Amino acid sequence: MPDSRMSGKKGMVSSIRTRIRTDSFSTNYEIVGKELGRGKFAVVKKCIEKATGKEHAAKFLRKRRKGQDCRSDIIHEIAVLESAESNPFVVSLHEVYETAAEIILVLEYAAGGEIFHQCVADSDESFTEQDVIRLVRQILVGVACLHGNNVVHLDLKPQNVLLTCSQPLGDIRIVDFGLSRCMDDMTEVREIIGTPEYVAPEVLNYEPISTATDMWSIGVLTYVMLTGESPFLGDNKQETFLNISQVNVDYSQEVFEGVSSLAIDFIKSLLIKDPRRRATAEECVAHPWVSEHPHPQSHPHSTLLPTQEPKTNHPESEPEPESPAH
Ligand code: ADP
Ligand code: MG
Repeated sequence: MPDSRMSGKKGMVSSIRTRIRTDSFSTNYEIVGKELGRGKFAVVKKCIEKATGKEHAAKFLRKRRKGQDCRSDIIHEIAVLESAESNPFVVSLHEVYETAAEIILVLEYAAGGEIFHQCVADSDESFTEQDVIRLVRQILVGVACLHGNNVVHLDLKPQNVLLTCSQPLGDIRIVDFGLSRCMDDMTEVREIIGTPEYVAPEVLNYEPISTATDMWSIGVLTYVMLTGESPFLGDNKQETFLNISQVNVDYSQEVFEGVSSLAIDFIKSLLIKDPRRRATAEECVAHPWVSEHPHPQSHPHSTLLPTQEPKTNHPESEPEPESPAH
């Protein structure tokens, strides 16, 4: 993103291409069903565009928060969505409306909802390892594309990764760029804090944030998708923070029952305290757990395939390293 579009606040973009409409949202859209989700300052509702009959998700963002004008934060969120227009795994932005109190983002509707639901579901509805491989690959491609554009998301968690469809399992859409930042001015960003369970040690220690910060969160996300358990969650915030800063992770057989050792190796390449030693999104896409599976693209019956399908050209296991003589 060109520097001229950066505003005074670190890593924030201040200009957008999208025309902000000031005519009435409700003249053009009908809100249907109950709300899709809500955060601290936003409500998201499903709506139908009257002219086309198409479904969308409308995110209503309050401009005033805690007595402060936050319009520039919303403009930044719009700018980042614009910059990710060609990213297949980022939700697309259709239109923007503004009223006295709110800005409304009309987004592509992700009908499958949050991956969070399958992460905590009973085993018959939860993801298989094959599902997780395909979805994590999509997250990585999406995030590699963001990072290539110097955008860091900084709030990657199962509530911000949605599915186009849940049955059959569709494709992922990354949403919620409310905490995202642009890194191209190379200034240090230190001020942001995401969701406790998913934040990287450098965030807790008030050290510089970088693309590696997102990679930590992808490590946590993958852990949760495979095991249904949150690796750092403690009984309270302090305990969670301590678990993160000590990288106190349970990789035991009980937690990872039926999960391949390649998957654990993948997670271990991300849950590394030193951000410089963490795998990048590009490196992760090339990791054998993600890259060496037989059916990379969406396939309705992929869940029926065995997790470890034998392949002719690739031996299943590397030869054991020679152990030193005793
Ligand atoms: P917040 O900044 O308040 O967290 P999000 O953009 O994450 O706002 O939206 C809140 C929730 O609304 C999401 O976690 C998700 O459940 C739902 N949601 C957001 N965008 C969409 C969408 N495009 N399609 C379907 N549901 C959505
Ligand atoms: Mg969110």
